[in-house]
Amino acid sequence: MLLKDKVAIITGSARGIGKEIALTFAREGARVVCVDINLDILAETEKEISALGAQVLSIACDVTKSNDVEQVVNKTLDKFKKIDILISNAGITADTLLVRMKEEDWDRVLAVNLKGTFNCIKAASKVMMKQRGGSILSTASVIGLIGNVGQANYAASKAGVIGLTKSAAKELASRGITVNAIAPGFIQTHMTDRLPEQVKSKILEKIPLQKFGTPADVAQLALFLVSEKARYITGQVICIDGGMV
Ligand code: NAP
Repeated sequence: MLLKDKVAIITGSARGIGKEIALTFAREGARVVCVDINLDILAETEKEISALGAQVLSIACDVTKSNDVEQVVNKTLDKFKKIDILISNAGITADTLLVRMKEEDWDRVLAVNLKGTFNCIKAASKVMMKQRGGSILSTASVIGLIGNVGQANYAASKAGVIGLTKSAAKELASRGITVNAIAPGFIQTHMTDRLPEQVKSKILEKIPLQKFGTPADVAQLALFLVSEKARYITGQVICIDGGMV
């Protein structure tokens, strides 16, 4: 087992990529702290993880609120005494063309995707610094590298996550903490299910492997990057996109 007795906090784990990462880590021996804004849907993740025989703690938290995030860290320490892994994965979209984009669409996407990641890294890294070790992984996106029509807010937030990752990696390396980001392409989840079929088929044309990714594909990359096998990798952004970028 790659994560035996490790304690992992995973945000946005009620569904999609975060849920699959939580299940994958639990199968690999981790004790998982599932965090999401929606506690009702999170209950299903908790049930599935418990059924694997793994220890799980579910916490409702809005990652845009630093107090909520600090509560997550405190509750995790109360129950499990340490934090080995942080997966900052909660994210949203509010797509529209730049000229039509409302200020609140910009603010909301930046608040969840970028400020939320800042809040989580700040709170968890304080604990990891004292422990002199840990792994932090954030979910960026290929859109943060290449941009996209209708996603100026999302692209800016994910490019921000990449800059944040690279800076945090440099600040935290001397304490034995690795900080990386993954940049998924098109992964089949609730987030992408909402796109119109014609948009999906246009995206598919741009994917050399000619298929969409699955949350399980992403979870395997996350597993590798937070495991001992990746202990010499930090400050990196790894694309998982079927060859798109
Ligand atoms: P998803 O299925 O929508 O899951 C995201 C989860 O985050 C949802 O449960 C969502 O709750 C939760 N969340 C939203 N706002 C939150 C907040 N303020 N605090 C805490 N939790 C919050 O999305 P996904 O596709 O798995 O995406 C996961 C991450 O991967 C995101 O950061 C996304 O940007 C990134 N990503 C996804 C793709 C893709 O193709 N799917 C590609 C590149 C990057 P609600 O549903 O209740 O809002």
